[in-house]
Formats: sequence, C-alpha cells, structure tokens
Amino acid sequence: ILTINNLTKKFGYLTAVKDLSFTIQKGNVYGILGPNGSGKSTTLGIVLNVVNKTNGDFHWFDGNINTHEALKKVGAIIERPNFYPYMTAEQNLKLVCKIKGVSTDKINEKLEVVGLLDRKNSKFRTYSLGMKQRLAIASALLNDPEILILDEPTNGLDPQGIHQIRQIIKDIAANGTTILLASHLLDEVEKVCSHVVVLRKGEKLYSGRVDEMINSHGFFELKTEKQSELISILE
Ligand code: ATP
Ligand code: MG
Repeated sequence: ILTINNLTKKFGYLTAVKDLSFTIQKGNVYGILGPNGSGKSTTLGIVLNVVNKTNGDFHWFDGNINTHEALKKVGAIIERPNFYPYMTAEQNLKLVCKIKGVSTDKINEKLEVVGLLDRKNSKFRTYSLGMKQRLAIASALLNDPEILILDEPTNGLDPQGIHQIRQIIKDIAANGTTILLASHLLDEVEKVCSHVVVLRKGEKLYSGRVDEMINSHGFFELKTEKQSELISILE
C-alpha cells in the first residue's frame, strides 16, 4: 500500500527523519514506535502530503497514481479532532461528507463501528474525549479508506477510553482495513499491531513483526547493532 525509500526530513540543522525505508502491506496493522521527537508525526505528515520531504521518496499503492489521488483512498487523523460543538455528531459527519465529496450513506454504518450510533443526535460538545476521538475515527472512515492512519490515537484518554479505541482499531483491521498508527507506547503497539517500525531520533532501529520483536528472549536476540538503544526505548 505504501513504500517509503530513504526518506529524510530536515528542519534547519535538525534531522527529524533520517534515511528511513519501510513498506506497508495490505491487511496488517503497523505501528511506528518511538519516544517523543523521534520523527513519527513527521513521517506521517510527509506521506500525507502536509510536510515536505527533504530527500528520498515514497509512493502509494502501485505508484501509478499521484499522491493527491492516492490520498482519496486513505483515512487519517493526525491532530485533535475538530468538529462543530453545537452541531450533533451526525450533522458534523454530514458536513465532512460534503467537504470530502463522499456520499452520506455510510454515516450510520461508521457510527456503529465506533459505538456512537445511539449518540448520533447528541451535540458534539457533550461528548467525552474518548467519544470525540471515536467520532474522528468514524469521520476518517467515511470514504471507506484502504488504510487508516492514526497519530497517537489514545493520547490523553482514560483507561476505559484507551481500551475502547484499541478495540475499535482491532475491529476495523479485522474487517480488512490496513492500519498505520504512531505511538510512544510499547504496550499500545503490543496490543494492537502486527508489525512495527521502531524509530529513535529519526532513525529506524527495527522493523518487522511485533511478536518476533517481543518473543521470549525477544529484545536480547535482536540482530541489530543498535540493540542496546532499542532495548532502552522499549523498556
Ligand atoms: P511526539 O511523540 O512528541 O509526537 P514525534 O515522534 O511525533 O514526537 P516529530 O513531531 O515528528 O516527533 O518531531 C521530530 C523532530 O522534529 C522533533 O525534534 C521536533 O521538535 C522536530 N520538528 C517537528 N516539526 C517541526 C517543525 N515544523 N519545525 C521544526 N522542527 C520540527
Ligand atoms: Mg508526534
């Protein structure tokens, strides 16, 4: 679905993403794992065309469509959800459909996916933080994307809210949508993802299956020269 080759992003003297390569295959749940400032959001911003790359390349799908066209088949939440507080959830989603140019037929189905169908007539301002995040997910699903991209989807939520969001992500993945999420929590990646790219200071330390990274003697068996750094991140 997505191929990234030797991607680099510099902000002045700071290299936020350094020579990063990985691929996203259909049907898996990918995590980008790394501490604050490791380049997760920058990487997502580049492939979503909101941040300009400095060097390297990426292409969506088979590479035969341009990024603008490709992004019509992508759903993404990379910032705090922003909806109109005095409109209901349903009214907000109708507006999103209008802006995106997609049909409103799927609104109920997507509200059901995130467990908000029975609250669709409540005003957005009455929603809890977790519900707001779930509405954002419903909104990102309105165009039936092939891949859903989430930046720190459970940040700021209480344990119940975290659990709900993680379960919803798993349900969406089980229905065949590929997922790419950024997180600074190993726990989140362990619970939700099948594959992971571990970043530190913009550099890839590991990429592969989560179970292979974590299995029994897991971290200590990793064949990477940077294994001590990886272990310290994952601890
Ligand atoms: P967090 O866990 O805090 O969200 P992150 O892994 O998403 O971190 P990024 O937001 O990608 O990290 O930031 C990577 C580095 O690039 C950081 O050092 C950050 O300060 C820097 N950076 C990000 N955006 C900009 C910008 N617009 N201008 C200058 N520096 C930036
Ligand atoms: Mg970030």
